[in-house]
Amino acid sequence: MAKRVSILDQHKKPSSARVRVAVRLRPYMEKEDEKAPAACVRGLDSQSLEIVNWRNQLETMQYQFDAFYGDSATQREIYMGSVCHILPHLLIGQNASVFAYGPTGAGKTHTMLGNPSQPGVIPRAVRDLLQMTRTAAGGPENENWTYTITMSYVEIYQEKVMDLLEPKNKDLPIREDKDHNILIPGVTQKTINSFGDFDEHFIPASQNRTVASTKLNDRSSRSHAVLLIKVQKSQQVSPFRQLTGKLYLIDLAGSEDNRRTGNQGIRLKESGAINSSLFTLSKVVDALNQGLPRIPYRDSKLTRLLQDSLGGTAHSVMIANIAPEQKYYFDTLTALNFAAKSKQIINKPFSQETTQSIAALPAMKRPREEAETAAGS
Ligand code: ADP
Ligand code: MG
Repeated sequence: MAKRVSILDQHKKPSSARVRVAVRLRPYMEKEDEKAPAACVRGLDSQSLEIVNWRNQLETMQYQFDAFYGDSATQREIYMGSVCHILPHLLIGQNASVFAYGPTGAGKTHTMLGNPSQPGVIPRAVRDLLQMTRTAAGGPENENWTYTITMSYVEIYQEKVMDLLEPKNKDLPIREDKDHNILIPGVTQKTINSFGDFDEHFIPASQNRTVASTKLNDRSSRSHAVLLIKVQKSQQVSPFRQLTGKLYLIDLAGSEDNRRTGNQGIRLKESGAINSSLFTLSKVVDALNQGLPRIPYRDSKLTRLLQDSLGGTAHSVMIANIAPEQKYYFDTLTALNFAAKSKQIINKPFSQETTQSIAALPAMKRPREEAETAAGS
């Protein structure tokens, strides 16, 4: 019996084609808010959470993911639990991607970048990769390989790829070579030999990011920030083999519903571009996780760029960031419906307190078609 299962397994897609999904709930940012209406979302265990059902407040919706991190989870826990295990694959020439999804203010940049006292995924991964290549180069099994780490940093803004290391490159093309590697011809590549080298290029480049104000957040990011770390491995003796592993570390644009931010004009146009590329990303992730034959990578610049590093033999992790405050309720639902492996409606009130405060909120009224989307899947 056990043997039959393993034979069947061989015919399945490689498990890495699936995009692993983690959800991170950020803590309340103000002591005041903590006392205000009770949270509408709470963790159940290390893989699931529940949220009150706005359609029927006698019910909660329970969602399951590959991992759930509650509001006291540390940067280290997120990194160790969901990211660091993919790095060794880069040293054998495989690709990987990690992206932070979620509404503005829910903690994407904190998760990816963090700050000097709480470094996030990016500085931790860069440090570890530098260390891993040093160890591999000096190790006993090293058969005359040398390792080179390079970085590129681009922003996708209104379906244009811009080079953050060389801002005059404003609309770079995306191409595919004969081996199906995706490239950005002309993009700046900097070699990094130390963490100091990384910082020297990364910090000024981050300041080149396009940010604009919305009613939700003063410095809301309207673009996808895409950091590419390449590990190139070259054999110094015959047959002089070369292997390249690519790691994409992506801080996605805010997933908020812009019909509720009062956006107009240029902002609304931006929102359209952002939402359609996030929508394509959700279709790609869905198609990969359901094992569908056609993956719509070409429908947006972001997914086209990620084509060789998301799905297939690549290792991909999405961290959906959510916020506890009531005002984020529908954005949280959108993020959960994007991220969930499964969803179940449970016939039990979340808590009386929460139910009342949700009912009292006028912002909870949604247009009909949105209500359908929120209730779907
Ligand atoms: P986003 O990038 O999704 O818009 P940010 O990462 O900027 O959100 O987070 C919004 C605010 O919340 C920032 O001040 C950030 O430092 C803080 N924050 C986010 N997540 C956490 C967390 N897990 N612990 C402490 N502070 C956090
Ligand atoms: Mg941000």
